[in-house]
Amino acid sequence: MQKRAHCDDASAENNGEIECEHPSIYPHLGYFYPKSHPKTAESAFEIRVITRRLSLNLNITPGVMFKFGYHRPMPTTQQRLIFVDDLEVWVIGKPRIRNMNLRVQPPDARIEVSVPRSRFHSPFVDAEIADFIRNKRAWLDKAVENTLSSPMSQAAAATPEQVKYWRQVVEAFTPALVEQWEPILGVKAKKLDYRNMRSRWGSCQPSTGRICINVRLALYPPECLEYVVVHELCHLLVSGHGPDFHQLMTRVMPDWKQRRAKLR
Ligand SMILES: [Zn+2]
Repeated sequence: MQKRAHCDDASAENNGEIECEHPSIYPHLGYFYPKSHPKTAESAFEIRVITRRLSLNLNITPGVMFKFGYHRPMPTTQQRLIFVDDLEVWVIGKPRIRNMNLRVQPPDARIEVSVPRSRFHSPFVDAEIADFIRNKRAWLDKAVENTLSSPMSQAAAATPEQVKYWRQVVEAFTPALVEQWEPILGVKAKKLDYRNMRSRWGSCQPSTGRICINVRLALYPPECLEYVVVHELCHLLVSGHGPDFHQLMTRVMPDWKQRRAKLR
């Protein structure tokens, strides 16, 4: 039987309208129900507070869950959208910076200007940003074009057929590379997997010997695929990316940094 207790955190969020209950196995989660609801409402209505995230789940009919989420704004970074001529520009307020910085972010070439957080709400800062953007316009247009034509941006907009084709390419080349490198490193990959991933080129589970390769490597020169294969095989010997790992990589593949640079 779970113990019902009043939660101060909950009453602060909800003006004391609701009670909360901490199931003993998940002390960091709070479960809250309207006071007027009978106990049977437990599966129908639930608010969770997990550090910075508050979510409300409504189970209206069994098996259909409506989920509303609210993220409390991060205290360190703020952002808002402005327009400069024909451009959408995200203004980011950052602590511990002195100057404005301009960036074009992959994969969708989002334009970001970071400003010191103290100036984020300044009435003059938007005009300054507009000047800054107009002065850098030639550079900016080039950067947007480069970002949008990068393989990673193309990958983000790919059709399922394209992804299938990349998978075929990567699946065709990877096993031979693995076989070639296993005796050099003295390791054995137990299972090869291929996935279309957004944020990593590969992964390795040393406990099971499973190696996963990103099919997007089909968009890069073959030496990049070989670099990722060797990187993941090296994780069967050394976990993490510390000095030992880099030493091993340099010993077996002296040009690994040049190959990795092509993946940026
Ligand atoms: Zn790694």
